[in-house]
Amino acid sequence: MTSTTNLNVVPFVSVDNMMKLVLHLGPETVMRDLAACIEADFRRWESFDKTPRVASHSALGVIELMPTSDGRLYGFKYVNGHPRNTRDGLQTVTAFGLLADVATGYPVLLSEMTILTALRTAAMSALAARLLAPAGATTMALIGNGAQAEFQALAFKALCGVTHLRLFDIDPAATAKCARNLAGSGLILTSCQSAEAAIEGAGIITTCTADKQLATILTDNMVGPGTHINAVGGDCPGKTELHRDILLRASIFVEYPPQTRIEGEIQQLAADHPVTELWQVITGQAPGRSDPRQITLFDSVGFAIEDFSALRYIHDRLKTLPYSEPLDMIADPDDPRDLYGMLIRAGAQPG
Ligand code: NAD
Repeated sequence: MTSTTNLNVVPFVSVDNMMKLVLHLGPETVMRDLAACIEADFRRWESFDKTPRVASHSALGVIELMPTSDGRLYGFKYVNGHPRNTRDGLQTVTAFGLLADVATGYPVLLSEMTILTALRTAAMSALAARLLAPAGATTMALIGNGAQAEFQALAFKALCGVTHLRLFDIDPAATAKCARNLAGSGLILTSCQSAEAAIEGAGIITTCTADKQLATILTDNMVGPGTHINAVGGDCPGKTELHRDILLRASIFVEYPPQTRIEGEIQQLAADHPVTELWQVITGQAPGRSDPRQITLFDSVGFAIEDFSALRYIHDRLKTLPYSEPLDMIADPDDPRDLYGMLIRAGAQPG
């Protein structure tokens, strides 16, 4: 059980407990709730500390820290992106995160965030699509059927009314896995042999592939007027999914421009190419989709405030749910200045 009174004991949400929590509430409910939390936090965008995430690149991947604060709580996420990991049976993306009380600096939550990242990324995508997708779009192409894919599918079902899903992955085993996991979800599934086949009749296209290169998952001729593109996979320098010509025809919506210009599809464009910030659409300061023939693009990279929203959501749920364990993480000497004395006394104890 969680101790919320003892400040030296930090509630820890393991992968096992995160799964229990999500299964208890239901993945679609969690993603609806997360979208509401993210929306609420984007509405108070100006009250957050914001910085592009701090990235450490290697030939094989990237490790990133994503901090933010609203002045009351502080949060950060550690996340990696290693597209070749799956060949060794490891995941492309893993993460954990922490929430702390700004007044004391003491952590109030430590949590796994691999599952939580997939949930919040999908919730963010669906939140953006609610503002940008063509009215009445019920078919989505889902290109890239890896770890994030089912979460994306279920978020679009729960939040945007998507009923038909057209799947494609260069690895047919990934598509088969995705179709298997989504059987019984209520979505009508079609497994496709190519990206061109997958986009047929789709008002929404989600690209969610992993490759550390400037890839071209969609070419210009594949994207018709009125389409909404949810580009999730291009999220670090030298890693994109869309041909540049698509970007030149699209109205582009982003989370935080200083980070997206480094990491998103728009790294292919001039530094002053116009983009719209989603928080401004959410608050009504900028229009979302304004024309049925407009191509809209959510150039998703994932921003720290979304992880903050997700952590504060989990922290809140733990007030009534038992899915955490106490972690002895903060030293607690009887006299706060006698840290060394605490160490000596521990050594003097028998055993
Ligand atoms: P994953 O490795 O589990 O799955 C990626 C899938 O893409 C694989 O099945 C692979 O076969 C497929 N693929 C690769 N190249 C392809 C191509 N040309 N056409 C079709 N399919 C192709 O990775 P994941 O965890 O699902 O993540 C997917 C991407 O999303 C990664 O690039 C990751 O960095 C990114 N991501 C973004 C955010 C965000 O907030 N924007 C959050 C999490 C992950």
